[in-house]
Amino acid sequence: MRALLPYLALYKRHKWRLLLGVILAIITLLASIGLLTLSGWFLSASAVVGVAGLYSFNYMLPAAGVRGAAITRTAGRYFERLVSHDATFRVLEHLRVTTFSKLLPLSPAGLARFRQGELLNRVVADVDTLDHLYLRVISPLVGALVVIIVVTVGLSFLDLSLALILGGIMLATLLILPPLFYRAGKPTGENLTQLRGEYRQQLTSWLQGQAELTLFGASQRYREQMENTELSWHDAQRRQADLTATSQALMLLIGAAAVMAMLWFAAGDVGGNAQPGALIALFVFCALAAFEALAPVTGAFQHLGQVIASATRITQITACPPEVTFPQGQTERPTQVALQLSGVTFAYPEQPQSVLRHIQLSVGAGEHVAVLGRTGSGKSTLLQLLTRAWDPQQGEILLNGLSLSQFSESALRVATSVVPQRVHLFSATLRDNLRLAAPSASDEALKEVLIRTGLEKLLEDSGLNAWLGEGGRQLSGGELRRLAIARALLHDAPLVLLDEPTEGLDAATESQILALIAQVMQGKTVLMVTHRLRGLSRFDQIIVMDNGEIIEQGNHAALMAKQGRYYQFKQRL
Ligand code: ATP
Ligand code: MG
Repeated sequence: MRALLPYLALYKRHKWRLLLGVILAIITLLASIGLLTLSGWFLSASAVVGVAGLYSFNYMLPAAGVRGAAITRTAGRYFERLVSHDATFRVLEHLRVTTFSKLLPLSPAGLARFRQGELLNRVVADVDTLDHLYLRVISPLVGALVVIIVVTVGLSFLDLSLALILGGIMLATLLILPPLFYRAGKPTGENLTQLRGEYRQQLTSWLQGQAELTLFGASQRYREQMENTELSWHDAQRRQADLTATSQALMLLIGAAAVMAMLWFAAGDVGGNAQPGALIALFVFCALAAFEALAPVTGAFQHLGQVIASATRITQITACPPEVTFPQGQTERPTQVALQLSGVTFAYPEQPQSVLRHIQLSVGAGEHVAVLGRTGSGKSTLLQLLTRAWDPQQGEILLNGLSLSQFSESALRVATSVVPQRVHLFSATLRDNLRLAAPSASDEALKEVLIRTGLEKLLEDSGLNAWLGEGGRQLSGGELRRLAIARALLHDAPLVLLDEPTEGLDAATESQILALIAQVMQGKTVLMVTHRLRGLSRFDQIIVMDNGEIIEQGNHAALMAKQGRYYQFKQRL
């Protein structure tokens, strides 16, 4: 239950709307009870006076009451739905924005812990489940309590003991059944939430991995696994539905028993009157209607387990502290960048082994540095630390003499252009895919950059409006790299981090791109991770990494003279 507290606190902002919803729900409930009670009594009383031959019976007032109750019930129901759903959607909106704003700073380090499908499920389905809390739990519960009080007090004017009997039965039902069904529904509710997450996650990975699964003939096996999860999910839904049916049957049974009890007791006497006549109908119909008001409560508590499970799953995300936090405020955009890494040691979260160890590196403003090393030696990780995707556990990274953590996020982003190892292509136009790096760039500037990076072919059909990615034109590995380089050129930052920018390009394009990089990166500080050993003499500094450490450092000539690892790499060429 404690898992719900932070979400109940969210309700505070919308308390008046929520309260109005509950009040309208109570008015509607009381109107329907009044309607049934009054019309039951009215019909019986009319029959009794008719049989007795008395024609002085005032039927105008009760008839007006019945009509009034019917209109109130209809209007009340309409406005109750309107107000309570409006309030719920506002709470959900607030909840979504809060969850999302807590989620954003976790990217990328904190989010790497969750799988994509799982994350989507929590942000969408689990947040949705929380709307049960108000609509299905709080509002009906408060409504039922008020109904019990009003009915008991109202009937006590006619007959105290009958009122107490009915009130007592209702209160006992409300106190016993909901906790009982909460207990019974909890394991199934948790199971449902977990299976729903599992299923969606399997479905997304099945859809995303279609190409591989088909090629390896594993699609069927994956589908079977998915279908097994689906079957268990259906099973849990069936158990939940069984429980709902049981709770409804039990409510009907208790309600019918209460009606019978009322009939039995009211037939004896009402308020000391041994011939109560039409008042019997009043008590019986009142019991019938009042139990209708209690009906939704047991069902609601059965879903509470599911709501709590969803709340817990959302809290697991929102309670994660971000791995990296940026200071607020505006920091000047540096025009030149010098880097200093001292004793930088880093291990990925929950990984015992350090990926980088005691990195000592000094890069002057405008220097070009090539980073070499075997696969897995930590080159990409080193670049990621420079973008503050993660912070090192030990050591310090200084940018122009200031710790990297002193820069606001926007200052750091405008100071850095990145060509990542895995380039993401958005399902959007070519223009949008480029403009994300430079929102104000003109079409001419975009076209010029495309021509410089050898991508003019992309302009052939629809120009910058060409649709790329899903549902549009896919790019080859080499084109994707060049698009990333085009983005980096457009971003025009003083520090450029390139992670294997010429990977997948043929020799001619590679040397063209390297020449372009050397030309446009004049005066900028460049760190380029590469597996290619051609053209490295152009670089001011070459570092060779192995197993998370820098094992060689210097310019081309010095490293060749040293005849170490770099020399061996070159010899193998
Ligand atoms: P390559 O040349 O293949 O790109 P690299 O030198 O860039 O290799 P990194 O990507 O920095 O290597 O990875 C260094 C080590 O860290 C590898 O052993 C890798 O498995 C591990 N690693 C990378 N990313 C993560 C992560 N998010 N969580 C845990 N371990 C990671
Ligand atoms: Mg890499």
